[in-house]
Parts: sequence; C-alpha cells; structure tokens
Amino acid sequence: MVEITFLGGCHQIGGSAITIESSSVRLLLDYGVYMDHHPSFPQEIMPKDLNAILLTHAHLDHSGGLPLLFSGIAIPRLFATPLTIDLTQILLHDMIRLSEYYLPFGKSELLRMTNHSKRIGYGKKKIHSKCTAQFIDAGHIPGSACIYLELDGKRILYTGDFNSNDTQLLKRAQLNLSKIDCLVIESTYALEDHPNREDTEKAFVERTNDIVEHDGVVLVPAFGVARSQEILCVLQKYNFQYPIFLDGMARVVSRIFTSYPNYFRNYNLFKKALKKAHLISQGKRKELERVKAVNTPGTIIAPSGMLKGGTAVNYINELHNDSKNGIFLVSFQVPETPGRILLETHKWDDNEVEAQVEFFNFSSHAGRSGLWDLIHSLKSNSELTVFCVHGEEESCKTFAKEINETTNFTAYAPKTNESFEI
Ligand SMILES: [Zn+2]
Repeated sequence: MVEITFLGGCHQIGGSAITIESSSVRLLLDYGVYMDHHPSFPQEIMPKDLNAILLTHAHLDHSGGLPLLFSGIAIPRLFATPLTIDLTQILLHDMIRLSEYYLPFGKSELLRMTNHSKRIGYGKKKIHSKCTAQFIDAGHIPGSACIYLELDGKRILYTGDFNSNDTQLLKRAQLNLSKIDCLVIESTYALEDHPNREDTEKAFVERTNDIVEHDGVVLVPAFGVARSQEILCVLQKYNFQYPIFLDGMARVVSRIFTSYPNYFRNYNLFKKALKKAHLISQGKRKELERVKAVNTPGTIIAPSGMLKGGTAVNYINELHNDSKNGIFLVSFQVPETPGRILLETHKWDDNEVEAQVEFFNFSSHAGRSGLWDLIHSLKSNSELTVFCVHGEEESCKTFAKEINETTNFTAYAPKTNESFEI
C-alpha cells in the first residue's frame, strides 16, 4: 500500500508539497512557499522521517520552504536536476535577502541544503533500494521536471508545472507513459486555453517594432528566470533590429543557462539573443546605463513581472508619462498586484498612465487542451486515480468533476493535509 498526503498547493497556487509513503520508503515532493501578504509554509515535517526530497523545479511556490528541512541534525537528501539546484539557490538567496517578513531560516540552512543536494539528470534513477524515480523534462522552465515514481508496485506521475506547447526556449513535455496508477496534475489553466503561441509572438514583436519605430521605449516587466530569456529569444527569432537592455536577476540567470546548453530547444537562438542584448552592469556605471536605456528607442526587459518591485519599477516611473512608450506585460498578473491594476485601470501609483499598456500571454503552463491531452493519453489505465492540485479552488474542483464525469478515472481535488491510499 502507498499513501499520498497533500501538504499544500491544494485549491491554490503556492506551497506545493506532497508526501508519498510506503512500508519501506517516505518521500517528499516539493516544499514550496505560499505568498499572500506574508509567506506561509506547508505543514511541518520531520526531516528524519524522510528518505529523500524530490524537487520538480526552482520556482519558489515549489521550493521556497525547503531550507526549513535543513536546520536540524537529521539531514535528508534533495534530488533535482543540476540546473534546478543552481536556480533554486539563487531564488532562495534572493528571497532571504529581500524578505520584509521574518523567515524561519537563513543563509546557513540554504548552504546546508545545497551541500546535501544530489544533482541528477533527466532519466530513471534508483533513489532508494525500494524506489526508482524518473525525471522527465517538463518544458516549464529550464531544468524543470515531471517526476515518475515506482515504489511498492505502484506507478505515480507528478506533473509539477508542465507545458504542453513548445516555446522558443524549451521543448514541450513528452509524457508518453502508458501505465500509471496515480496522476497528480497541475490545474493552473484547467478552465482556459491559451491563444495560439505563434500569433502571440508575432503580435508582440509587431507592436514592439511599432513603438520603437516611433521613437518610443518598450518596457517588458518579466521574471528573471525563463520569461526574460524567452522574450529575448522571441525578439531574436523575428529579427528585432533595435537595442535590447536586460536588467535584474535575468543577467546572472542567463549566464548560468550558458552552462547547460543541452537543456534548451535551440541553444544557438538563445546564445545569439543573449549576445545581442546589453546587460546593464552591476557596478558604478549602472545608473548611467539605466538613464541611457530609458532614452534609447528599444526594449528594456526587467523584473519583476507583476511590478511588485525590482528594477522595472524604476523604469516605469521614467517611462509611463509618455504616450510614445509601451509597457508590455508578458506574465499572468495576480489580482491586486500593481501589474494587474495597471492593466485594468491604466494607473500607476494612482496616476493616469500615458504609455501604451498591453498584455501578451506567454504562459509556460499547459492550457486546458494540454491538460486534457494528457488525461486522454492515459485512457488505457482503467484504475487510474487523478489528483487535481496547483490551481485556484474552482479550477481544481471543476477539473476533477469533469474527469469523473467524462472518463473512467476517479478524480479528486484534495484538501490540505488530506491523505489517500493508492
Ligand atoms: Zn513553476
């Protein structure tokens, strides 16, 4: 018998954490933070009881609580792809450095976590005498993985976050698994599909060219891991001819990416795109270069994606008063964030924005069709149990209901701390 318990990421996006337990092995899959007005973490778990922690990818909603498990004497082993370990370190370091709230861990726990990380590539690995794990490229961000587990005669697929569409940076997830007993699937976009990717790319580049050719500057607020680099690749693919400035965490992350050429769909495209971009220096010249960027018709890519902080805030303060300029949002905007308010009201800091504000859907999650393609590909599994997690309450519940109504599978939208036997 195998027991699965959902410690977080239930009816919400954030705090993803799952334990899988058999008579001989106990595993933890992800241990993320939930960021509302302050950070909160999944239910406490005793590291001494764990045989291994498996991390799908570096995003903090999957990794942000991990250092908590590295403060005691008993230290578990963390398995992830090498790039995920590098990115997780950067994101957690940033979280500790910038947190305005008390965090129950610091740099020493982060260091211990890194020292106890086991870097494993994609493919099948024995992680315990009674358990094998296969990390499968999830196509979500570089290094991301879906995890396929075999233990006690049960086969479990945890999708983590995955993309069923190619992006410029990554190939889509290839989940060709014919026989599984349990599927834990993300539900982020269970209720909606994304627009056609190529149309979005073309529209984005066309509008960017339009603004720049009329002497404007386009600010693209974007997360430094993956989204900034995706935008660079899109501009490169469509031969954007004007200056591109890259600021914030994307600079160091892009350099790390160059150590992992095999993780990319078209590494040459990324390499060329990065070479063409001007990386704002981190030294004395920084401010001068930023002034130059806001006065040069071209594009500035800077964090944060939802304008909650980061250098994009400095840029928008300089650019929003001029109708020649554009502010192009390229990530989902969580309600009540400055980015969402800007999109809905055209206001920044309560002031009317003159610049042209637009949204382009460059999501790195599977849309509704992609999620259903995965469900339908598992038709031959008559006994399959499906758990819908990592989505707003309505998404998780409706997705599970639709699976129950239209397939032979049994589906649940589990609640926090709920356990099931597989
Ligand atoms: Zn993610």
